[in-house]
Amino acid sequence: MPGDAERHRALVNVFGETARLAGFGHVITPIFEDLGVFKRLGESTDVVNKEMYDFVAKDGNHYALRPELTASVVRAFVQHRPAVPWKVWYEGPQFRYERPQAGRYRQFFQIGVEALGTDDPALDAEVIALAWHFYAALGLRNITLLLNSLGDPTCRPAYLVALTDYFDTRRTELSEQSQHTLQVNPLRVLDSKRPQDQAIIDEAPVMVDHLSPETGEHFAGVRSVLDRLEVPYDISPRLVRGLDYYTRTTFEFASHALDGAQNALGGGGRYDALASDLGGPETPGIGFALGVDRILLACDAEGVFPAGAEVADVFIIDVTGGTEAAVLQRTMQSAGIASQRAYDARSMKAQFRAADKSGAQIAVVIGDDEVASGTITIRPLMGENRDQVTVDSATLVDELQTRLSTSG
Ligand code: AMP
Repeated sequence: MPGDAERHRALVNVFGETARLAGFGHVITPIFEDLGVFKRLGESTDVVNKEMYDFVAKDGNHYALRPELTASVVRAFVQHRPAVPWKVWYEGPQFRYERPQAGRYRQFFQIGVEALGTDDPALDAEVIALAWHFYAALGLRNITLLLNSLGDPTCRPAYLVALTDYFDTRRTELSEQSQHTLQVNPLRVLDSKRPQDQAIIDEAPVMVDHLSPETGEHFAGVRSVLDRLEVPYDISPRLVRGLDYYTRTTFEFASHALDGAQNALGGGGRYDALASDLGGPETPGIGFALGVDRILLACDAEGVFPAGAEVADVFIIDVTGGTEAAVLQRTMQSAGIASQRAYDARSMKAQFRAADKSGAQIAVVIGDDEVASGTITIRPLMGENRDQVTVDSATLVDELQTRLSTSG
């Protein structure tokens, strides 16, 4: 609704400006794509398995509403082959068939960035720092950055063997759900939030102890640039993300101002194999997505980034029938002055009542005398001095702009 929607847009604008200043172009991708694009996210992820809204269209093709944007952006990269490094930001609704609750919706809004074409650890740090500084720009303070490396194809297989061996020794202690997950993707057992699994997960071997020298060096590089940028982080060795495509750097932002279950404000990571999986050349990439709905809940909880009141500057009172108000409203619009008016040729008294209620600072009044003499009457609706003055219509905009700028 208005008010909330304006706050939402203001947030997206802050994000877009933050990204633009960091050299990211804006990208807009379709709301739905060929189902195959999203299947590449990994058959073992809940997002793909259980949460996608998919449908067969009249053309017989199988499509899905996008559950996230990385796959779409990488699909666009593969299709258009722009020069690299290719850095883009996006905003828009995503769709997941989830059980709706506070902070978890079936249509939710994300903002994010993707950067393709280099695996320079400085890019990882740049992307992470961008999200960090965006939160700061909103005024959020109670946020922790959780950082991990998920290894790469040279070192992850050996780790997965160690992890599976460990879980196998404790299989019967795991929840039924996790026993099933173990068969499909042992890494995702680490993501279980079930209390029964926690003690077992806490003792599981971690990827950061199994990184190859190169991957370890890459991770150290990311951390050292973050240190230089003064972005604080917690190494979170059991952080695995909901999508299967991540390699090496992964991260998440958690708010302390929100309830545990819904405290993730965003996250992302490296996906060095996704472009080639989608039929393109091997191209490393990294990105993140942040949940706008959740960020606004965190802003509420921290009392920052309030919704601006959507109040017009000026209320136009026309007692000559209403056509003059239409002309004046057009004049205000082109001068950048927000205006409201009454309709249905209501009485002067009723229009003044509406003006008082509107929250506008100034009423401009046009009656028969004003029309005859080419003037407009201005009456302040706020402040001590509410004396009305009559000005020449030609000077109205200047007069209003002066009054509005001095009243702040
Ligand atoms: P993901 O794409 O799963 O990594 O999610 C990134 C961010 O989007 C999360 O940290 C949340 O802030 C937000 N998010 C994910 N799913 C939902 C949802 N169903 N409703 C609201 N926000 C969501």
